[in-house]
This record gives sequence, C-alpha cells and structure tokens, in this order.
Amino acid sequence: MLKTNQLSTAAEYVKAERLQELFLELAKINGPSTKEQLVADYLKEVLPKLGFSLKFDEAHNQFDGEVGNLIAWREGTDSSVPPLFFSTHMDTVLPTEGLKPVIKDGVIHSDGTTILGADDRAALAAYLEAIQAIIESGVPHGPIELILTVNEQKGLVGAVHMDYSKAKSKMGYIFDSSGDVGQIILKGPYSSRILIEVQGNAAHIALNAEEGNNAILLAAEGLSKMRLGEIDKETIANIGIINGGELTSIITGSVTIRGEVRSFSKEKLDRQLKHMEEVMQQTAEKNGGKVNVSVEKKYLGFEIAKEDVLTKTAEAAARNIKVNPYLTETLGGADTNVLNENGLTCLTLGLGFRNIHTFRECISIENLVNTGRLTAALIEQWYINHKGL
Ligand SMILES: [Zn+2]
Repeated sequence: MLKTNQLSTAAEYVKAERLQELFLELAKINGPSTKEQLVADYLKEVLPKLGFSLKFDEAHNQFDGEVGNLIAWREGTDSSVPPLFFSTHMDTVLPTEGLKPVIKDGVIHSDGTTILGADDRAALAAYLEAIQAIIESGVPHGPIELILTVNEQKGLVGAVHMDYSKAKSKMGYIFDSSGDVGQIILKGPYSSRILIEVQGNAAHIALNAEEGNNAILLAAEGLSKMRLGEIDKETIANIGIINGGELTSIITGSVTIRGEVRSFSKEKLDRQLKHMEEVMQQTAEKNGGKVNVSVEKKYLGFEIAKEDVLTKTAEAAARNIKVNPYLTETLGGADTNVLNENGLTCLTLGLGFRNIHTFRECISIENLVNTGRLTAALIEQWYINHKGL
C-alpha cells in the first residue's frame, strides 16, 4: 500500500504521448464562449466510456448559449471517501477552428494564426488522461466529479448561472493558472464593477454655449483626482470604459464611466469604491453637475487555509510526482471564486500555459504531462488522506 509522500502509483500510468494526442484533439474542437456544443458532444461520447454519468444544467438559457454546464459523476472503488471534483471551462477565448499545432523544443504552440486553446483544454485533456490512468493502475479511490463550465471567458458567466444542486461533491481543484505545475493558489480577490454617470448640461457651442456644462471636463477633473492602479498590496482599481458625446459642436451633457475594483479585503474593496464615488460626486457638485453611481458585485473573494485538507493533499500529491509545491495568491478572477461562493470549496492550481488569450499561447509538454500526473496523484492522495493510511 502506498504511503504519504511516496511516489504516486497512478501518476506512473499517465502516458505522455496519449495525453499530448488527446490535448491536440481537444484543442482543435472549436468552442468559443457560448458555442461549446461540439466540446459537449465530444464529452458525451468519451465520458461514459470512462464510467461517468452526465448531467447538463440550463445555464445557457440565461445568456443565449448553445449548451449548459456539464456535471459528470463517477463512482469510486470506496464510497466512504468524500467525492473530489475537478473543474475547468469548456470554452476558449477565441475560436480554435483550423488550429495547426507546432511543437518546437518541447513546447506546443499554434502556427500563429489562432490561439492554441491550452487555456483550458490542457486541463480537460489532463483530467481525462488521469481518469484513464486511475482505471489502469487499479488504485483505490473515492468518487470523482467533473464540473465543466461554459462561458467562463466572458466573466465566469456559466459558473454564475450554474445549477449547483446538480453537483454532489463539496471540495475540489481547478487547474487554470499560468504558474508551472506545483503552483497552489490559496487566495482570490473580491471584485466589483462601478458605473458612474456624470451629468453636466448639453448645449451648442455657437447657439447657447452659456447654458453648457461639459460632462467630459467634469469627468476628467474627477478622474484626475481619483486614486487608481495599485492602491495597496492587496487592492487594485481601474477605469476601463468611457462613453459620451454626440457631435464636436455640442457641449457634452453626460458621460458614463465604467471601472472595476479588486481586493483580497472586502473592507478595502468597499472603501475604494466609496472613494471613487465621492471624488466624482464632489467634483461634479462643485462645478454644477450631478453624479449617479451604481456598484455591481462581480464575484466574492476566497481563501483556503494552509492547513486545509485541499492544500495538504495538493502539496503531498505534487511531491509524489517529484514536483515542488509552492503556495501563491492572485488578484485574477476565476471560476474558483464563483464555485467557492456557492459552497464548492476549491483552489486553483497552475498548469503552466503561457501568453493565453494571444496567438503566442503555448504550453510545454512537461507541464501538460505533469498536469495529468498531478491530477492522478491528487485522486490517489485524497483517498490516502481520508483513509488515514
Ligand atoms: Zn482559463
């Protein structure tokens, strides 16, 4: 019987070539956000052969997508062990139609005319290969659940609209970060959007300019006084969109400004949002204008303790495949935020993709294979931890 911190048996059954082929097959399936039907069709074919039963939810009806989130369940050899889920998203940020992979010096790229789709087909391929390895190795294990979301790239939309009653497990992992395999992300930010409407007074520059109060100038003065960028080590704020104005001959009557704040601290998030509102309010009022502000929650933060069984299992599993685990935090948002908010406790793991969302996207074969190996080792180590072996 395998003991903690010995080499993983299941990981030895992960076959590098088979995983690479599987990844390329998956990456070539076109599935940009809201158009994931072909990916779902592929999984409907493959997952039952690996012993999974499948359920789809109706999340896509909320945003005119082709298909809902997929929740797939596989019994373990030992049902006394709590189920463990692995999650990722089925969509890619752009189409991968016509993808021509290029492998150079152990790194997989596209030919530069499309994205590679390593974000996050690499995780999906690794999960499928790891399940195959678990079966072939014959190691005992608990139930496994796959939670595969749609429309993630547009802002975690599939996860936000997921029917969480369909998921049976409570704890899991999401491989979806650019750190090399071994990266364990314990902390993610709170995030809110802010919409500021600045009202001045519209007028024609030649006919009634004296009645005008230019909302663009009000907004500019307010923004120049606003603290933005890195507010402190755990808080960032950005203005991303400004809309307003109709004609060059018209003094602009109103402007809308959209921004976003992220922080590991809910209190600091709220304080920064308040600051942005107040600065604009005071500036506009001083100059005879008005301001309307609305704030919309994007997602909540999460924090997994260093002593948590998820963290401990991930560290041990990494060592069991001879990879050094390292604990980090991120101000990036992920499905991890939304799943945690909905009672599915999970953390994000690195799988080593690079330059995602660009045509230079790539992943090393080493990271791809280690993702498969770590997934298998996690399933094995989860069993060991819960059986107290
Ligand atoms: Zn991703």
